[in-house]
Amino acid sequence: MDLVAKVRSGARLTQGEGEALYELDLFTLGELADEIRKAKFGKKSYFNINRHINPTNVCADICKFCAYSASRKNPNQYTMTHEEVLKIAENSHKNGAKEVHIVSAHNPNVDIDWYMGAFRKIKERFPKLHIKAMTGAEVDFLARHHKLTYDEVLDLMVANGVDSMPGGGAEIFDEQVRDYLCKGKVSSQGWLEIHRKWHERGRMSNATMLFGHIESRANRIDHMLRLRKLQDRTGGFNAFIPLIYQRENNFLKVKKFPTGQEILKTYAISRILLDNIPHIKAYWATTTINLALIVQEFGADDLDGTIERESIQSAGGAESGTGMSMQEFITLIQNSGFIPVERDSLYNELKLFATQL
Ligand code: SF4
Repeated sequence: MDLVAKVRSGARLTQGEGEALYELDLFTLGELADEIRKAKFGKKSYFNINRHINPTNVCADICKFCAYSASRKNPNQYTMTHEEVLKIAENSHKNGAKEVHIVSAHNPNVDIDWYMGAFRKIKERFPKLHIKAMTGAEVDFLARHHKLTYDEVLDLMVANGVDSMPGGGAEIFDEQVRDYLCKGKVSSQGWLEIHRKWHERGRMSNATMLFGHIESRANRIDHMLRLRKLQDRTGGFNAFIPLIYQRENNFLKVKKFPTGQEILKTYAISRILLDNIPHIKAYWATTTINLALIVQEFGADDLDGTIERESIQSAGGAESGTGMSMQEFITLIQNSGFIPVERDSLYNELKLFATQL
């Protein structure tokens, strides 16, 4: 069976077949990914009303690609108090946000309750606000720094009101590339183990892949297949999020950046390979909103959210610093020929915005 026929048959692809997908022309690949997307979700494109909060940029780790950490190229060191975090959550709640997405650097100067207390206080004040917090890398850092097991950190998260985990910190699983990019941070195996343990608690999470730097196509396929394998076991990933490497203000020397075509192919391939992860997210903070709208035709069914404010990707050159209004978001999706659907953090549909004719 040729590769295109095999994809259409719904059969699972191997590492070699995943790599071979890159050799297909863009339009064939797009068509295949779109067929799968349409079969699952029709023309629906999901988003949520969320607020990203990044409470500190003080970091014990030294990832080469990072533009956010104050220990890299960012001179503006900060650590918020619980009151400051609460104030942001309060304003966002008032503005209709249903989720706070909280990701921090690995701050060695604060105790573990600085992390957990912020979640607890938000949950006490706004019980219905979904808290998506703590990447696998943060969990690993807290475990190492405070001499706890992964289970103990995860139990603390549950006890303090964390509802789901974001997908950050996965970067690229290939050990050699990972060592070069972010030696010392959570290992690939550690990241996968943390998510497995989280899923075993009946909780959901997302998974990212940072691409477009020094990794090969084979590394990307390997990354996706490791996720597919874990998902077969737990079913706990809601969404896969390919993150495009942001090139400014960091220590990673990258000579060649991916073309738009390579980015679109990578999205389409993720939709084809990850047959067991329901949602493919075009996180517009890294793709730009224009490319995210196009990626809807290459397999993505989710455009993340309105974000409101974001510090990590924007430090590296992304245009996501100030988020977007809900109306603007809806109109953009409608004008691109898709049907915006507001969802909650676990992908329950809240409101469908029929396209105006
Ligand atoms: S990517 Fe995260 S862990 Fe790595 S240096 Fe930046 S803030 Fe620290």
